[in-house]
Amino acid sequence: MSVSQLARSIKESPTLKLNETAAKLRDKGEPLIHLGGGEPKSKAPIDAVVNCATQLNTGDIKYAPADGLPVLKKAIVRYTEEHYNKLVGPDNIVVSSGAKQSIMNLLYAMLEPKDEVIFPSPYWVSYPEMIKLAGGVPVTVTPEDGTFHPRIEEIAEVVGSYTKAIIINSPNNPCGVMYSKDFIAEMVRFCEKKSLYLIMDDLYNRLVFEGKTAPNSYEFETVQSRNSRLVTVQGVSKMYAMTGFRIGWAIVNEELAEAMTNIQSHMTSGPATPSQWAAIGALNGIQNSIESLRLTLENNRNIMIERLRAFKGIKVTKPDGTFYCFPDFSAYMKDSQKLAEFLLEKVRVATVPGKEFGMDGYLRLSYCGTPKDIMDGLERIKWALDPDSPNELFLGDRKLVRDWL
Ligand code: PMP
Repeated sequence: MSVSQLARSIKESPTLKLNETAAKLRDKGEPLIHLGGGEPKSKAPIDAVVNCATQLNTGDIKYAPADGLPVLKKAIVRYTEEHYNKLVGPDNIVVSSGAKQSIMNLLYAMLEPKDEVIFPSPYWVSYPEMIKLAGGVPVTVTPEDGTFHPRIEEIAEVVGSYTKAIIINSPNNPCGVMYSKDFIAEMVRFCEKKSLYLIMDDLYNRLVFEGKTAPNSYEFETVQSRNSRLVTVQGVSKMYAMTGFRIGWAIVNEELAEAMTNIQSHMTSGPATPSQWAAIGALNGIQNSIESLRLTLENNRNIMIERLRAFKGIKVTKPDGTFYCFPDFSAYMKDSQKLAEFLLEKVRVATVPGKEFGMDGYLRLSYCGTPKDIMDGLERIKWALDPDSPNELFLGDRKLVRDWL
């Protein structure tokens, strides 16, 4: 075997692989509906595009400081003050190539070999692999009451002498559930008491519905500045629909920031400067794109939930935010991998198997596409799974005939 043991232990990203498969099927002219995506359909804010283009037009695109351009850090300081009511300085900020790299840097900077990192299930697909890459051990906690909301006692139960950090992602990818304010307060206090890092992956915390707002972890922090082990991860990918620019950041204590910067300086020398200028434009520009995306997603969520609730045998928790929901399809098929393959093959609908997020029997369905995609996609899924469906279905001029179930 010519690749390392570490490389062999890392799985490919199932969501990125699905995007590739979907793109190939579309290229072949297949009538694919992608309900597995992880990015909004809307365009980047105009201020982001203009700011980036202005820099590109100078032709003067050079290395920047490894932890991010000072002007971008200034915009992040302001963002953090406005949205977290938290005063941080530039030395508390490390800008990276997407929130993904922010989390990776954090893990490299925190973990000793075999240190454990705890996170609730269902979880974002990359956490276990990232923790393994950094030499750590992933530990998951599945809520016992059948909901998607963990309890502090369940988390406390798995904390041991090797525990170094806890990752909380709320609202959560893949289930869209936002953890309660009480839970966040308890987590902050618990981690302070146990001297554990608490990584708040807040990537979706502006995409929350029905007038709710995400609890602010800083409100409950008592240990501050250099000794703070509370970390927040943010980025432009989801809230500004800027996934391709690859800009994320972490807010951390100064010691951690220095360590992360050193690590990043040897890995990438910092994120691409044109992308940083785009992020500056987004953060300093007109902010109405977030609200319009949020409203679109809320409407899409309502359409998806209404359709799913009319689906016999499926259990679904209404998402509080994000653009995902995570229905339980186990009444139809317990193996989510097989179910996702079946739906792709038979009715050309792409979904992500729950197994990848730590829960088999579920599928992650995205509502970041158009309402038509959502309605047509769910109609196809229903047709494929419901034994009482009519025998035929037309996808454009292609006739499908049920030869299963
Ligand atoms: N955290 C979560 C929960 C995510 O869903 C994602 C993206 N899918 C990321 C982090 C990484 O985001 P980015 O694109 O900024 O790297």
